[in-house]
Amino acid sequence: MNQQRTLVLFGASGDLTRRLLLPGLGSLLASPQEGDPALAEGLRLLGSARSERELDEWRSDIREGLSEGGALREQAEAVAADAAWVSGDPTEPEDLRRILAEVHGTPILYFALPPGVTEAAIDALRGLELPDDAMLALEKPFGADGDGAAALNRKLARLVPERQIHRVDHFLGQQSVQGLLGLRFGNRLLEPVWNRENIERVEIVFDEELGLEGRAAYYDGAGALVDMLQSHLLQVLAVVAMEPPAAIDEESFRGAIAQVLGATSLWSGAPVLAGTEGPSRRARYTEGRVGGRDLPAYADEEGVDPERGTETLAEIAVGIENRRWAGVPFVLRSGKAIGDPRTGIEVTFRPVDVVPKGLAGEPRPGRLTIGIAPETISLDLVRGGQEEPFRLEQEQLEAEVPERTLTEYGEVLRGILSGDATLSVRGDVVERCWRIVEPVLASWRSGEVPLDEYPAGSSGPQSWR
Ligand code: NDP
Repeated sequence: MNQQRTLVLFGASGDLTRRLLLPGLGSLLASPQEGDPALAEGLRLLGSARSERELDEWRSDIREGLSEGGALREQAEAVAADAAWVSGDPTEPEDLRRILAEVHGTPILYFALPPGVTEAAIDALRGLELPDDAMLALEKPFGADGDGAAALNRKLARLVPERQIHRVDHFLGQQSVQGLLGLRFGNRLLEPVWNRENIERVEIVFDEELGLEGRAAYYDGAGALVDMLQSHLLQVLAVVAMEPPAAIDEESFRGAIAQVLGATSLWSGAPVLAGTEGPSRRARYTEGRVGGRDLPAYADEEGVDPERGTETLAEIAVGIENRRWAGVPFVLRSGKAIGDPRTGIEVTFRPVDVVPKGLAGEPRPGRLTIGIAPETISLDLVRGGQEEPFRLEQEQLEAEVPERTLTEYGEVLRGILSGDATLSVRGDVVERCWRIVEPVLASWRSGEVPLDEYPAGSSGPQSWR
């Protein structure tokens, strides 16, 4: 690939560009796979935001960001030298026209903007002529509900074909999530038992020590359910539970994701979340200490409207109505300000039916845990005890997978720059993900589910344990 392309970063003055996109691009330059070096050839980085900036300032952001991701000094220098900056409001057609006039070759428009602004920019693009090969990259949350996502999809479809739209979910670029495909489909030990006959329960958890970190403007309108479960964790669930795709490509892989999420809905079996009969629970942190820092209560953070009742910890149970998974609860959970946080996928196997007489003790269920960022694999097995060989004991086998240089945003950008939509979320799938969580949002809005509390630094509300 040697044609000229311009990656237009709308919102280039923002957090995503500085903290994740530029270092991601740097990591892509630093860890080339076959064909990757060509991805950066002829690539022009055009930064844009409403803030007035000097080109030199943008070039220095680029050098810094790419180097942080591991790019060599001469690689960062080459990209910076070719870069451009155009100030403007992405929601104003005239400004957009000026910005697009600076594009050389194929435009790749990356909307690193607050979601409402992205949608307004898409509206503004309608009156302009985009080249046939233009590509669009959009961040989550995609729309504010299922109908909103469908409306946004219709607007995008008027601009470019579906395969030129990249709805980014960087969890699909996570090393551990991608590694799952090999783990599931490459092991005779796991592949035949990956079903309802052998698996009792699956938990997908992404808790973090971080609190609000000054992101009230976005987070207070989203909350943990929309920020994490509706997007990232449902994508992870799809990879855990999908049928084997014929190939890891945009057709089969995305088809397998759509198929499994199409069969996924809120859990309607016997209660699986402690302290509630329903399929969801929510909570908000109060003042506490986590990661060596004192945190104020979420409700007291600057920019938060406490009356909104935004949750900082969300948990839902879903089921998958197909032959492989019917009757197995999948629990998704994510929380902020959690002490000693867990992040990962925990698969609990059913206990064996019978053990020979003479083997003492209860056969505990086997468990496979895959840590997300960093990737770890841990398998709980039962074996005869050390001192008492005929007494069942639990043993844990653990592996820590070395972290690769390519970040998840490096992986996302590799897909976008090479025009490969395998890791981009398909339009129907984002709509489906909203449909799965919409009943929860409605029940929370109507106050059916209490907003519990937990001190920052704890593992969640006492009543949930
Ligand atoms: P920011 O809040 O930092 O906004 C990005 C830029 O958008 C700002 O620098 C600002 O530039 C511009 N902007 C803000 N408001 C407006 C407006 N009303 N009209 C025009 N431009 C505006 O967002 P982030 O960079 O944090 O996130 C961007 C997107 O990426 C969001 O959709 C977010 O959900 C997603 N995301 C972010 C992550 C993160 O860690 N930051 C992680 C994963 C996804 P200026 O004022 O100069 O025009």
